[in-house]
Amino acid sequence: MKINDNFEKLPENYLFAEVARRLAEYRRNHPDAEVIRMDIGDVTRPLPEAAIKAMHEAVDEMASSATFHGYGPEQGYSFLRDAIAQWDYADRGIAIKADEIFISDGAKSDLGNLGDIYSDDSVVAVADPGYPVYVDTAVMSGRGGILENGRWSKIVYLDCNEGNGFRPLPPCRHADVVILCSPNNPTGVAYSREELKRWVDYARKEKALIIFDSAYEAYEYGSEFPRSIYEIEGAEEVAIEVRSYSKTAGFTGMRCGYTVVPRKVSGFDGNGNSIELRKLWNRRQSTKFNGASYIVQRGAAALYTPEGMRELRATIEYYLENARLIRDTLIGLGYTVFGGEYSPYVWVKARTGESSWDMFTHLLENKHISCTPGIGFGESGDGYIRLTGFNTRENTLKAMKRFSEL
Ligand SMILES: *Cc1c(COP(=O)(O)O)cnc(C)c1O
Repeated sequence: MKINDNFEKLPENYLFAEVARRLAEYRRNHPDAEVIRMDIGDVTRPLPEAAIKAMHEAVDEMASSATFHGYGPEQGYSFLRDAIAQWDYADRGIAIKADEIFISDGAKSDLGNLGDIYSDDSVVAVADPGYPVYVDTAVMSGRGGILENGRWSKIVYLDCNEGNGFRPLPPCRHADVVILCSPNNPTGVAYSREELKRWVDYARKEKALIIFDSAYEAYEYGSEFPRSIYEIEGAEEVAIEVRSYSKTAGFTGMRCGYTVVPRKVSGFDGNGNSIELRKLWNRRQSTKFNGASYIVQRGAAALYTPEGMRELRATIEYYLENARLIRDTLIGLGYTVFGGEYSPYVWVKARTGESSWDMFTHLLENKHISCTPGIGFGESGDGYIRLTGFNTRENTLKAMKRFSEL
């Protein structure tokens, strides 16, 4: 048996392991230092009460043969798909139907699995810095090419920098698949309507597919930013949207999300025939996935109630307030800062031209604050760090006080 040697080409993803290692070492040498974790990439608040209640009821249903649920539909239960179609789309004037929605066990699985439905020689474009899953899954399926100076030869990198506000626009080059994330992890910035329109136009012209990761869309509540790519005219012909209840409803440990594949999105086969991607994704999911758990889908459906929505928004408001505290404090101190307004993430530029790891060490040693070095998200992330609002208000305030005492 010969292994898939793309796995051997892939360097260790050492970012989070290295942060943990350096943190542990520092704590060992400085047992009295009270380090505040501003690098947390996971939610910390409990689930909305409405979801808890619905899941308790669902567990009780499992205890009786009359109400027990075995295998569910691979695409997800209609009670959840109908609620999504209504609340997340119809209510916002978007014509997405329940049968174009596929419930999953989270966005990460879908982002990786979508690669099953396009050809192995597809050229994939990703933002740098970006969520590492996009590049690593492309490489695993042979779409990387050769790694040279930290970059894969077949991947199109969309450079993010101060000049473009970390919101790259379409390149002159062709790509078959473009993965966009807005509001972004790690930079916290969100695309405007006009910018997304440029991407939809690009995809139409290049006959490319956009995979739109909107894991953080709920953080844009009440803003002018588009929360779905389908708010852009024509997107329903070129885009797949991937969503998650993880960062919005605290479901990181529950596992539930969904992917929208509109009927109008198609690709081409070897003979140039246009093929509906929805059919391929449906086949892929029905073959390799047996659906998200009934209990968890009941929990997710409970978010689409007035109480569920109110509780969910209260939690998001809590994280957003933390992020705004971070943003405002650092701007006040003269830092160049991105994100933190409609995102739990704040992207901070080192003041003295330090590298990401220099800034990490500097903050840890002088302030006892841990952060995530930007270079871990791509070459263009060097010279930046990511701070997160996923902390308690108390710790966030304490950390900001330490910053101010520079
Ligand atoms: C956290 C995160 C995900 C993964 O979400 P899950 O649903 O928990 O798998 C996807 N995309 C981005 C950008 C994320 O930050």
